[in-house]
Amino acid sequence: MPVAKGEKLEKYEGLSPAQFFYRNKEIAGFSNPARALYQTVRELVENSLDATETYGILPNISVIVEPVNEDSEKIKVKVEDNGIGVPIKEVPNVFGKVFYGSKYVLRQTRGVFGLGVKMAVLYSQITTATPIYVKSSTQKSRIIYEYKLFIDIERNIPFILSLNVYKKKDSWHGTAVELVLRGNFSQVKKRVEEYIKRTALIAPYATISLKTPDGEIKFKRVSRKLPEPPKIGKYHPRGVDIETLKRLIRKSNSKMTLLDLLSTSFDGVGRITAEKFCEWAGFNPNIKIKKLNLSDLEKLANKMREYNGWRRPKSITLSPLGERLLKEGVKNILKPEFVTAVTRPPSSYGGNPFIVEVALGYGGEIPSSDAPLLLRFANRIPLLYDEGADVSKKVINSIDWNIYKIKFPAPLAIVTHVCSTKVPFKGVGKEAIADVPEVEKEIKIAIREAARRLKRHLSRIEKMFEIKRREVTIKRYMNEVSRSLSYISGIEEEKLKDLLLRILKEDIKRRESSKAGEKIVKKAIVSR
Ligand code: ADP
Ligand code: MG
Repeated sequence: MPVAKGEKLEKYEGLSPAQFFYRNKEIAGFSNPARALYQTVRELVENSLDATETYGILPNISVIVEPVNEDSEKIKVKVEDNGIGVPIKEVPNVFGKVFYGSKYVLRQTRGVFGLGVKMAVLYSQITTATPIYVKSSTQKSRIIYEYKLFIDIERNIPFILSLNVYKKKDSWHGTAVELVLRGNFSQVKKRVEEYIKRTALIAPYATISLKTPDGEIKFKRVSRKLPEPPKIGKYHPRGVDIETLKRLIRKSNSKMTLLDLLSTSFDGVGRITAEKFCEWAGFNPNIKIKKLNLSDLEKLANKMREYNGWRRPKSITLSPLGERLLKEGVKNILKPEFVTAVTRPPSSYGGNPFIVEVALGYGGEIPSSDAPLLLRFANRIPLLYDEGADVSKKVINSIDWNIYKIKFPAPLAIVTHVCSTKVPFKGVGKEAIADVPEVEKEIKIAIREAARRLKRHLSRIEKMFEIKRREVTIKRYMNEVSRSLSYISGIEEEKLKDLLLRILKEDIKRRESSKAGEKIVKKAIVSR
């Protein structure tokens, strides 16, 4: 079309994904030098955990955060793991191309978008002009390779500066990543330490160390048991949209019928369920799917979302910690006097499976405060920001703690863990979980169950305490009573004392009923 005389046209162009995130860093948590440093540590540690625990490897992760030279805001972050490594050919793309990764399957992992580490690379290269250094080797590989690379932001492709390859001398496998960025460590030090500590709580099977100019903190694994790794699953029919259908149809062959598609591509749908659905929705089950037009697809997607006859989403894609491991983690990090954990059965919202786990810790080294200390996790990621907006906070505020014999200030810690293939985060920051009714309900049930157990424990201590107090009082008056009794009855004073002691002991034994009881009382008395 010719341009009309005098008409001014804009200049039009595309924007690469790398450019987009370069311009909108705050979307991915890189909003200022302090937060960027925190987020960099997080992205690297989470990749390391994904690369180990998902594949049955007990994680050994070391994190180093140090200024490049003294009093500089140029900070080096180095994270090394013993994970599965990255194949040599894939290194440039996984570290140098926004939206490239291995986690675009339906399975619970910490990373999901293929974005995290590239944000760290972008931030580092634009603030210090330093390339990312990556050293890696896969489990069966005989070589180790070292890359230095930048991201070509305009084209969203890696720009390789160097590649070194050498022979492996031992059986090392894993990945070491080093970045230099402008960051403010003193401002974010506490958060980084807290993040590592909470990661150690939710991954008690991991050994994690953090070295900073202030020294080294190390959390050694307290368990060699890994939770069952998540398996790759299929999408649930209730979570489907037109685009998903189109993609599935594009990949299928021309003979495939609607019945075939439904019964092979979706979670929990067999031929019988698929037939029932087709009848309900008014679709011919034998129609060839390549023949479906756009309006058919729209109707199909809508009906699939509405249908009530689907089975619940399977939870094989999820990997909760389990009550035992969660308790181990809480014991190791918070050192409470009492701990209990509840892992709820799988549930779902909008076709997405999820599992809620909760732990309560009480007493011991947990400091007393006016509200419960809340530690939130999503897919084993500690959430440190935006607590006030989180569904767990809402649930905790709604509970009347008096029912459970807890009066604030109290030394109470609550751990909540939501795992899902799609955690319903509030906003793009991914730091708070939204109050989706199904999730809220599960958290409430789990906290109440755990609180009931805590109440039983507290009642027991109260009772034991009462017994002990009586014992002390009786012992205090024992001599006087025996003397008076002896005077009246003529029985030897020592014999009467022995008798009283024996009666007292039997009474205590009967009430405490077990060794565990005795231990609880001793602990409780020491801590009061
Ligand atoms: P995401 O974690 O969301 O997939 P990232 O940009 O953080 O996105 O990472 C991209 C990909 O790089 C990952 O999917 C993974 O395949 C690979 N990767 C990153 N770090 C490691 C690591 N430490 N060990 C093994 N693979 C890794
Ligand atoms: Mg990641």
